[in-house]
Amino acid sequence: MLHLKNYIDGAFVEAHDGQTLEDINPANGQVIATIPRSKSSDVESAAVAAKKAQSGWNATPMAERITWLETIADALESKHEQIAQAESLDTGKPISLARRVDASRSVENFRFFASFAREQKEMTFEMKDAMNYVHRNGLGVVGLITPWNLPLYLLSWKVAPALLMGNAIVAKPSEMTPLTANILAETLDELNLPSGVFNLVHGLGPEVGQGILEHPSINGISFTGGTATGRIVAATAAPMFKKLSLELGGKNATIVLDDADMQQAVDGAVRAAFTNSGQVCLCGSRILVQARIAEEFNAAFVKAVSSMKIGAPGDEESQIGTVISMEHLNKVESYIDLAMEEGGTILTGGTRAMTGRLGPDHNGAYLAPTVVAGLSHLSRCATEEIFGPVVTIHTFETLQEATEMANATEYGLAGSIWTADTAKGKALAQTIDTGIVWVNTWLHRDLRTPFGGVKNSGVGREGGQWSMGFFSETTNICVKDQN
Ligand code: NDP
Repeated sequence: MLHLKNYIDGAFVEAHDGQTLEDINPANGQVIATIPRSKSSDVESAAVAAKKAQSGWNATPMAERITWLETIADALESKHEQIAQAESLDTGKPISLARRVDASRSVENFRFFASFAREQKEMTFEMKDAMNYVHRNGLGVVGLITPWNLPLYLLSWKVAPALLMGNAIVAKPSEMTPLTANILAETLDELNLPSGVFNLVHGLGPEVGQGILEHPSINGISFTGGTATGRIVAATAAPMFKKLSLELGGKNATIVLDDADMQQAVDGAVRAAFTNSGQVCLCGSRILVQARIAEEFNAAFVKAVSSMKIGAPGDEESQIGTVISMEHLNKVESYIDLAMEEGGTILTGGTRAMTGRLGPDHNGAYLAPTVVAGLSHLSRCATEEIFGPVVTIHTFETLQEATEMANATEYGLAGSIWTADTAKGKALAQTIDTGIVWVNTWLHRDLRTPFGGVKNSGVGREGGQWSMGFFSETTNICVKDQN
């Protein structure tokens, strides 16, 4: 069993009071590791170290910081398999997914921000008698708080631009998935990143997370997590005038028009609904199908879903592993019960998978991918974020109706539209209140583009220049001509 430590001021240390938490394997209930159960005094140590290190890091020329990002990318790439194995173990996701998505993207995040920064030119505005130069400094010390679904993928998405722009970091991963954040800390330590520039404090949200939010030396918070937690983050940080980026929940619509390529739409809808057991904020958890093709689509969709291979996370063939924990499994199942109460019909799934079939894995949080039909698009199951392998399926007649249904939730993160007519798809996309819409694809990401949500899905955008903007303060320097 592993025993992880905090990484503060360039050293691996226990929590001040020595308390620990257990990190549980969702596939069998066994303890993988213990981690420090840190408190605000540990956050204090991390914030002091970060503050001390930040000015030196900010003064490091941008070109050197870019080289740092490239060096980190190379080092993480050499640990690609280690990262994938750790992520699969911690989250219960299939190893093939952890390799393809989590490990690869964690490397790419560092590489992308390095190459993107190399392309940037100094921003200037010329006047008749003066020149304006827009200079960017790091925000200072930033707090990075991340969830369990895509642990290193999301942490590195924040760490890379934060380092690039000259910030020092106090990071808190979810206590349910601490392994890969620890690998990142080990990597930065091996590379001799200056002490205090990156600090990692393990523990619980209401203890460590809250400590980060409240710390007066932490100037900005980049938070990815649930909407309810996002409210607490905003309520705590906003009165202190901290810069805030909130990437929150989603209840995204997959809209299938009656001219769509059937096979492409089915494959896309399955991927959007069940990647990572539906535990991606971008997952298409509501499928809206145009009436003329609904019967054919639903039959093909259910057939594809019921043939997905559920299996142990480490099995190379598995397409669906576990959800994050038994507690989360219970929450997702309560929504299946609610769907029944709300008048829904289960077309496939709805049951715990693997139970009794896996021997030692009998405690695993396996849930079969579940499709529910017959619910109102205004029902709780069709409007609340379930964040598991459960999708509801609904029918619409006109495009206006599709828009109204898609917009009938408090969320507005993402969505996808499937149609043979891409102009129609693009026009429909403009009527959906959401931060991202894909047409005939899903989770097709260009890291230069703005990423974020509207309504209760968040505040602000990350990606490319948006991340660089968030993690910096600008000073306009106006120099008057002297002749
Ligand atoms: P949570 O909101 O429960 O937790 C997110 C992080 O916040 C965790 O590190 C958590 O710590 C911490 N936290 C909890 N309470 C506090 C607090 N009072 N102060 C500060 N930090 C706190 O989300 P989940 O981990 O359950 O992740 C799932 C959610 O994340 C879903 O709603 C999903 O949609 C959303 N998400 C959004 C994305 C986006 O880009 N919009 C991307 C991925 C996920 P701890 O784990 O210890 O409780």
